[in-house]
Amino acid sequence: KVKAKILDEKAINRSLTRLAHEIIEKNKGVENVVLIGIHTRGVPLAKKIAEKIKQIENEDVLVGSLDITLYRDDLTKVDYNPVVNSTDISFDIENKCVVLVDDVIFTGRTIRAAMDAIMDIGRPKNIQLAVLVDRGHRELPIRPDYVGKNVPTSKKEVIGVHVSEVDGKNEVIIYEK
Ligand code: 5GP
Ligand code: MG
Repeated sequence: KVKAKILDEKAINRSLTRLAHEIIEKNKGVENVVLIGIHTRGVPLAKKIAEKIKQIENEDVLVGSLDITLYRDDLTKVDYNPVVNSTDISFDIENKCVVLVDDVIFTGRTIRAAMDAIMDIGRPKNIQLAVLVDRGHRELPIRPDYVGKNVPTSKKEVIGVHVSEVDGKNEVIIYEK
């Protein structure tokens, strides 16, 4: 059941523009910055942030992806293990500032798995995290560096993130089970 629309297309766009500015500012430019989207919806979000960075700085930022599956069928059940299925990172991450991009952060387990996968591939200078929505309920000491919107949720609520490349529209909704 839909409880509320949190972000419409314009609001998502503004958030991604701000995230792009924050990434540029924090890294004093984007010379060593690469973006890694977490499949599924983190990938189009990472590409959009890369487009914004291009518009702002006139610099191309490389975008890769990680496919991580959470083995659970209920988003409100917090007892699952993320498994890295595949990686699509066709560039060197040695000494790079790797910005992971995901749609939602919840327990933090997916990002922990993503960091493990990145460290297996190479030695980045650092790893940062950008998310469109932080819905709380962390189970690990992980926090995003860049947040589109903080949405404190109850355990009965889940966030619907729709991005045009996957869902045909851009919006963030809060659902109540
Ligand atoms: P975590 O591993 O932090 O518990 O969950 C984060 C991962 O699960 C992200 O890749 C995200 O796509 C997905 N996820 C967790 N909770 C939600 C939610 O409420 N809505 C959506 N759309 N994805 C979620
Ligand atoms: Mg996901």
